[in-house]
Amino acid sequence: MQLTGSHILSISQFDRDTIERVFTVADSMTPYAARRRVTRVLEGAILGNMFFEPSTRTRVSFGCAFNLLGGEVRETTGFESSAIAKGESLYDTARVLSGYSDVICMRHPQEGSVAEFAEASRVPVINGGDGANEHPSQALLDLYTIRSELAGRGRGVDGMRIAMIGDLKYGRTVHSLAKLLLLYQDIQLILVSPKELAMPEEIVERLRMRGHDVKVTDELTESIQKVDIVYSTRIQEERFQSKDEADLYRGRFRLNQAIYTQYCEPNTVIMHPLPRDSRADANELDNDLNQNPNLAIFRQTDNGVLVRMALFALVLDVADQVDKYARDVRWYNASRNG
Ligand code: ASP
Repeated sequence: MQLTGSHILSISQFDRDTIERVFTVADSMTPYAARRRVTRVLEGAILGNMFFEPSTRTRVSFGCAFNLLGGEVRETTGFESSAIAKGESLYDTARVLSGYSDVICMRHPQEGSVAEFAEASRVPVINGGDGANEHPSQALLDLYTIRSELAGRGRGVDGMRIAMIGDLKYGRTVHSLAKLLLLYQDIQLILVSPKELAMPEEIVERLRMRGHDVKVTDELTESIQKVDIVYSTRIQEERFQSKDEADLYRGRFRLNQAIYTQYCEPNTVIMHPLPRDSRADANELDNDLNQNPNLAIFRQTDNGVLVRMALFALVLDVADQVDKYARDVRWYNASRNG
């Protein structure tokens, strides 16, 4: 796959070689993300960060990644503060904003909307989440995390066992991650959800056609016993007709330290795309797991910056020049002494 100048709309665009290239570049971003080095390779470049749905991590980490490469970020959040609220079409918004930016990241509640926007854009567009459809950069950072967590346990992605838990119908991160796993071999997937919130049949079919061992269930404790990764997700309340409807499912699949100790193998990695719903009636991942060294959720968020830096560097074709425009940092920072 050619990344230079390309839109990144779906994880299905990627092949294994491209994933390796992204991960190698992501590795090379470590000194910059850790604030040991500063690079100005994207000095003068502008990222248009357009988020029409709530976001903290994705929006800030895309912005932060661009800043860390020396670029500037211009942001629009929410429909109210954008001309879309005045009836402007995605086509017009794309034509206008692509004149002001070198690359655009966009999140939008409608499936397919980011692709529609990209068609009219004159600069590359990265999908930051389109409705319940896809979240490709999250899938990349999840796989990057899985790979590094499993490497520390002497295992690889091929042959791994993963339980995906929660709202698999509306959860775009699990859609993208499941599709990404089509590139790997002999994966065992246990898809744990209420029946009404099951993984779309089309994705399950593709996983099975690929030869993966896929089990669909609504039973939590037996599903987390023999897996390398437990990937928990939030009930996507915003996609339901009402809060009451979402409440029917909230809190069904709680994981806490006692359940982990009783059922999971000792080194099982715990992941979640975040935000985790920490309200008492949901508590998908209990705070009592915070001290568990296998809780990888904050390593995921840290890795998100590396992977997003890599995507910008590759899409804007500067991956080989990052070090040429670099220097050490001047200010105090803890990691410099570490
Ligand atoms: N932050 C992720 C997303 O935007 C997961 C979530 O919201 O539950 O899809």
